[in-house]
Amino acid sequence: MSEEIRNPFEIAQLQFENAADYLGMHPDLRTMLKTPERSLEVRVPVRMDDGSYKTFTGWRVQHSTARGPAKGGIRFHPNLNTDTMKALASWMTWKTALVDIPFGGSKGGVQVDVKHLSPGETERLTRRYTAEISLVIGSERDIPAPDMYTDSQTIAWMVDTYSMNKGYTVSRAFTGKPLAIGGLPGRSDATGRGAVITTREAANKMGLNLENAAVAVQGFGKAGSAAARLMHDGGARVVAISDSRGGIYNEKGLDIPALLKHRNKTGSVLEFQNAEAISNDELLELDVQVLMPAALEAVITCGNAKNVKASIVTEIANGPVTPGAADILTSNGTFIVPDILASAGGVTASYFEWVQNAQELNWSVNEVNRRLKDVMLRAFDNVYTTHIEKDIDIRRAAYVLAVEKVARAYNIRGIFP
Ligand code: NAD
Repeated sequence: MSEEIRNPFEIAQLQFENAADYLGMHPDLRTMLKTPERSLEVRVPVRMDDGSYKTFTGWRVQHSTARGPAKGGIRFHPNLNTDTMKALASWMTWKTALVDIPFGGSKGGVQVDVKHLSPGETERLTRRYTAEISLVIGSERDIPAPDMYTDSQTIAWMVDTYSMNKGYTVSRAFTGKPLAIGGLPGRSDATGRGAVITTREAANKMGLNLENAAVAVQGFGKAGSAAARLMHDGGARVVAISDSRGGIYNEKGLDIPALLKHRNKTGSVLEFQNAEAISNDELLELDVQVLMPAALEAVITCGNAKNVKASIVTEIANGPVTPGAADILTSNGTFIVPDILASAGGVTASYFEWVQNAQELNWSVNEVNRRLKDVMLRAFDNVYTTHIEKDIDIRRAAYVLAVEKVARAYNIRGIFP
């Protein structure tokens, strides 16, 4: 059994090595793909409301551009560091390859707790950060999108800042935009929708009926709340939800539309009617059929994996299950829908947004959802077929497919000069 590793970049490298071993990848290419292509660390000074200056650290890391422009979200979080950024950037490379969209992988962010900033301070932070990374981003270079603690408003400020410096509007350099400036209908639900589609496929393979099945979701942000709502709409019983402040539980199922209203009003899921309080740790160990971790990395570890009772664990967050924990879950018969598959709906819709902007088209939400479903079903089928035919676990199957595709791009292009 793998020993416990919690550093996200070491986890990402281990997952890559595991696929590279299977593929018999040449050591030279392996060394290259283990590290990012480019990593930019920036200083982000911000004028605070009281007139003082505060300096934050930000990053934009591009892991690979072999298959197309780099693509990845922007995260604002106090625990960000270079290794988290590198891990998240490399997971984006494998994710875009797995769903076969013509992008590489990147990630960016600022080490900051935005809960302690005013709206004006957050806007100035976003604009200064954008100016600092504008050297390396662009519609053909690297395309940011929202991630944790950023949203379509963040992206709107980024579009404006970048465009002001170019002298014309460059909306195609960003995705996850508001509809008013070239956003895509359905983008905000896309990560959750993709996760629900792949969860349903996993349930079909296991012969598990999701009608009235108990579901727990950790994280009630953009991705987790959409997944919870769509599982609820589809007839499942969402019994537990949590956010950074704690969780709530009702065995009979939570009224998700009402919970969304409560969260929008109070800022948290806590103190929702007809629900008892539970901790984030308790949520992970509930007796449910489906568990959806949709917040941070490394929440299911060797320490708690043996207590996870869910039949399906859908990794909506990036890297929520450590490799050691994945071994334990797999040996217990749990179906893990791996992050690079389960959460690929967001980047797939981002690709649609980028294409739509290039063609000056307006797709309907039905069109977007239909195309998204096609991509997610095809990717799931490829992973599942590889898992069966090659007799390897599902996560390894996903990585083998993705890494092989990226390796092929490097081999065909060759190394400059
Ligand atoms: P978000 O900022 O919209 O929401 C994050 C949620 O997690 C919030 O409810 C927050 O309270 C909760 N949270 C934060 N710390 C927590 C903790 N310690 N314990 C429990 N809950 C905690 O972020 P998001 O965009 O929904 O992203 C969530 C995860 O999904 C991240 O791992 C992100 O990388 C991944 N993801 C997001 C997208 C997307 O399109 N938004 C796409 C792919 C993957």
